Amino acid sequence: MEKRNLKSLNTFAIDCVAKKFVEFDSEKDFEKIDKAYRESEKVHILAGGSNTVFLNKEFDGTIIKIENKGKTIISEEVDSVAVEVNSGENWAEFVRWACLNGFSGLENLAAIPGQVGASPVQNIGAYGSQVADRILWVEVHNMKTSDNYRIMNADCEFDYRFSRWKTSHKEELIYKVVFLLDKVFRPQLDYAAIRSYLEENKINEVSPLQMCDIVTEIRNSKLPDPEILPNAGSFFKNPTISQEQFEDLKQRFPQIVSFSQPNAVKLSAAWLIEQCGFKGERYNHLGMHAKQALVMVNYGDATGEDVLNFANLVIEKVEEKFGVRLEIEAHLIK
Ligand SMILES: Cc1cc2nc3c(=O)[nH]c(=O)nc-3n(C[C@H](O)[C@H](O)[C@H](O)COP(=O)(O)OP(=O)(O)OC[C@H]3O[C@@H](n4cnc5c(N)ncnc54)[C@H](O)[C@@H]3O)c2cc1C
Repeated sequence: MEKRNLKSLNTFAIDCVAKKFVEFDSEKDFEKIDKAYRESEKVHILAGGSNTVFLNKEFDGTIIKIENKGKTIISEEVDSVAVEVNSGENWAEFVRWACLNGFSGLENLAAIPGQVGASPVQNIGAYGSQVADRILWVEVHNMKTSDNYRIMNADCEFDYRFSRWKTSHKEELIYKVVFLLDKVFRPQLDYAAIRSYLEENKINEVSPLQMCDIVTEIRNSKLPDPEILPNAGSFFKNPTISQEQFEDLKQRFPQIVSFSQPNAVKLSAAWLIEQCGFKGERYNHLGMHAKQALVMVNYGDATGEDVLNFANLVIEKVEEKFGVRLEIEAHLIK
């Protein structure tokens, strides 16, 4: 349980030192992490660190770093397979492995940074897909009671970028996720960027692997690589407002970008941020990316405090102009 600098373990590259650091390599480590949990007032589970912002220069507690690897096909039917994946597996590599084997359902979520065990936490989503639609159940270890149990999909409380683990149940360490994948490919083409890519490149038929590559290519052309320009992906959630509020905004801003939802309207946070002049602008060490205004980037040595101040400035300006309050998507760790 030694001290550890976390700068290389979070994609925003925030300099933060953890007082204690413990690795979870396999189920043999349950006892070790329970002890660490009991002995520390503050514990944080760290996976790939791609949705995490450390707010202080020191994390005055214990970091449990997820490293358990491995995956197994646990059942196979004529048209589907169930795959059990250990949390420490890299998400993008798992999706590619599935596509290479002709197992589909996750290809629109290709190239999202991070680990498998973190995927249910905020119900990762992209290009019209969300992981909740492919999860059968999640195996958790409760570090407080030392029990292991299974949370079935219906009990995960999945919603847009949300699950039971997003704001509570922090004593539950997810150590496996079980996915149901198709052996018959039904490409999901709802998303405009995918449809236009296929049209422009005159592609009529795709395999899961081709779709994985296409999504990866589209993402790489739009999103900054954290290795080059540190970031945590979409920094804010797309806000949902009432139909009534939307009608009012539409009158004042006819170009407003929105996605309709049952009984509500989801707005593009990137559009709102761009309209406030933040896109591509730099504020000391930080800025909203020139190609994707929803992504906050760290140009240098931003501290967690700088990130919070800049995020609050963006929230304030958007609220002033549109009367809509943005919510931070990234996990802020004190
Ligand atoms: C360039 C870029 C693009 C991105 N694009 C997308 C996107 O398209 N869609 C999307 O949804 N997200 C996106 N993200 C955000 C991020 O990739 C996902 O949220 C990802 O699932 C985070 O995984 P991680 O392993 O890095 O988690 P971390 O940041 O390490 O952890 C995230 C949260 O999950 C908890 N957690 C992690 N593992 C466990 C576990 N085993 N048990 C219990 N709790 C756990 C952590 O405590 C923390 O609260 C992007 C990020 C970047 C940098």
